[in-house]
Amino acid sequence: MKHLDQWITRHQESSGETRYGRARLLAWMLVFSFGVTVPVLMHLLFFSIQDPYRVPYIILVSAVVLVISAAFFLNRHGNYLTAAALFTACAVAGPWASLVFDPGILQGDFLPLAYISLSVLIASILLPLAAAAVLAVVQFAALAVLLFSLPVSHVINLPSFFAFLFFLSGLSVISNLLSRRDMEQINTQHGQLMKLSQKLKEQSIRDHLTGVFNRRYLESALHQEILRASERNISFCVVMLDIDHFKQLNDTQGHAAGDRLLNMLGEYLTSQVRIADVVCRYGGDEFVLLFPGAERKTIEQTAEKIRLGVQLLCNDAGMSGITISLGIAVFPEHGRTKEDLTAAADAALYRAKAGGRNLVMTAEHQEPDRP
Ligand code: GH3
Ligand code: MG
Repeated sequence: MKHLDQWITRHQESSGETRYGRARLLAWMLVFSFGVTVPVLMHLLFFSIQDPYRVPYIILVSAVVLVISAAFFLNRHGNYLTAAALFTACAVAGPWASLVFDPGILQGDFLPLAYISLSVLIASILLPLAAAAVLAVVQFAALAVLLFSLPVSHVINLPSFFAFLFFLSGLSVISNLLSRRDMEQINTQHGQLMKLSQKLKEQSIRDHLTGVFNRRYLESALHQEILRASERNISFCVVMLDIDHFKQLNDTQGHAAGDRLLNMLGEYLTSQVRIADVVCRYGGDEFVLLFPGAERKTIEQTAEKIRLGVQLLCNDAGMSGITISLGIAVFPEHGRTKEDLTAAADAALYRAKAGGRNLVMTAEHQEPDRP
């Protein structure tokens, strides 16, 4: 059953109907109808030898089996509406065709006409409700004309028969209208929840002030990168950078100016790296850049370019004298774990600070611990 369900829905995503949508429901209705009509056909072919209307019914039921198969094929390949229209047409045609084939109906055996309400039910489930309503009105008008004009209509309780069909069809249309409204509401709420969860997910990995990634994201990105680089036997680089004398800027120009600088720096760093690189605010005035697949020489040049670029940027923004210091660590040369790599980059940054600031330093094999 599970395999059949998977097989039924495998091609339906492309039809625009969701996995749990009406295309799937139609597929199951077609399977069910096939399962019912084929035994009926077998019965007509091999057991109803005496039935005087056997041949026309064999033709009718064979046509239904063929149409059901075609509708199943169409639905499975993304043509939901065509398949739904075919299946509904089949349900509509059945009772009316039996009227032509089966003179028993004209003599008072109205039971095959009860299937008209089934066609309305199917239409209200599968087609737009306006189409189902038109189908219901047209069929009931025709049925009323037919039943009340037949000379044998007095042999059954005709108003009761008619009312039964009418109420059954009316309730089908109304209940499907209500369940569709509920579904639409659920779909809308589901869409809103998905958007909200996406937003929360995004917020949980971003720094609220600068919009660059936060430390939590860096941890997982570093973990992934270590796995990837180890597997492919390639290197990657981590750059840790810190604003020089940032505290002074806060003290002299105010916290808002400090915030503006952090923001500007986040934007600038993002503009200087490739799409696959990671820019992260590590905390306070410290940023970490992760360069997947990059080699030491390239990143030393990039870091130098960033150092000079920040100086120019700050000058242009009226914050002259602002500089940054940078420390570089390379995988696997300076560490094979997250902790070792960040410690190596941090130690290199410390040497840059100790060396007079506004410098780029690369980690050494044996970085001394930061005091
Ligand atoms: P150094 O050259 O040694 O790095 O000197 P520094 O003054 O930059 O020293 P440090 O890095 O220790 O100072 C960081 C300062 O950053 C201290 C804190 O007040 C400030 N800071 C931390 N977070 C924020 C923030 O979100 N906004 C602002 N405006 N300042 C912050
Ligand atoms: Mg600083």
